Amino acid sequence: MNQLIIDGVTKQFGALKVLQSCDLTVERGSVVTLLGPSGCGKTTLLRSIAGFVTPDAGRIRVKGQDISRLPPNRRDVGYVFQNYALFPHLTCRDNIAYGLVVRRVPKAEIARRVSQALDLIALAAFADRYPKQLSGGQQQRVAIARALVLEPQVLLLDEPFNALDAQLRLSMQVELRKLIDRVGITSIFVTHDQQEAMALSDRVAIMRGGRIEQIGSPLEIYDRPRSCFVADFIGRANLMPTQVRAGRTEGPQAIAAALPDGPATLVARPENIDLTPGSGPGWPGKVTFLTALGPVIEYEVDCGFSVPVRAALPRHAGVETFEPGALVTARIRDEAAAVVLPGEPN
Ligand code: ATP
Repeated sequence: MNQLIIDGVTKQFGALKVLQSCDLTVERGSVVTLLGPSGCGKTTLLRSIAGFVTPDAGRIRVKGQDISRLPPNRRDVGYVFQNYALFPHLTCRDNIAYGLVVRRVPKAEIARRVSQALDLIALAAFADRYPKQLSGGQQQRVAIARALVLEPQVLLLDEPFNALDAQLRLSMQVELRKLIDRVGITSIFVTHDQQEAMALSDRVAIMRGGRIEQIGSPLEIYDRPRSCFVADFIGRANLMPTQVRAGRTEGPQAIAAALPDGPATLVARPENIDLTPGSGPGWPGKVTFLTALGPVIEYEVDCGFSVPVRAALPRHAGVETFEPGALVTARIRDEAAAVVLPGEPN
């Protein structure tokens, strides 16, 4: 069953159209990430679900009930703020208990639920500490427990890893996903970090200029981007201008394309570009730069396009390496993995 249905949600601040008829359906227990550049409307959409923003048009339903007109405290939706917003003068235990106290839940039940929540986030030993006596990652877990203890239908998280350093961020992403799976709660994350979106989500919604441009599983979006914007935003992509004639691209490699004749863009991921020394079938070019990333070496090759072609070659024995200045030929390794989009790269 679908837990959350967003239907035609639209919002304008003054002359600025911040959300333009956004539709989104989230299945029970699944994790969806809203991903997009700064200012594309991610937080506004999240805040509309929470009730902090009132849309100009559209409907939001949770478990079949239209919550569009309900105040935030009657929506059965948990919200984890970017900076956690813990009460500094309350201990961990009292921070987590706060929402239950406000709802006048009986004391014994509060004690039971708070203690369960503390176990869930593995912070029972820290129950009597104040927020300033906790690390950033621990504060974040308390903020999540505070939302979960109210047993909401939907959990909303606004850039929950922003305040953490890179190392902790990665481990918290995995920990949080495991926690969400254990509780089985429908969750929506906002992030502008594509790696984070891929790591956390069952589905990713790519937003641009107030619209949801594409929604799908992380790999669907990575393998089959519907626009140059999406291709470039998720992972790294070579966007090569081409022309379609009779269902194939023109140029050194004819790739099948179900598109009308005209300008098009060939999209190929760096790991799907092969380099061979000298000239051969493919795009001739010159290596201009290389980055040794560990598992792969990334080459930039000037093939005469406005931007260099990127090729990521694994460091296996037998894979040739190239120095800057080397003359090479770039070729798409697996034609089925290349995507052809209408129009020119933007
Ligand atoms: P970021 O990643 O930077 O947080 P975002 O995608 O979450 O960006 P929003 O916070 O939803 O973007 O903002 C979208 C646009 O709406 C921005 O241009 C922002 O300045 C504007 N905006 C947001 N809230 C308001 C408001 N209350 N009044 C006026 N403009 C607003």
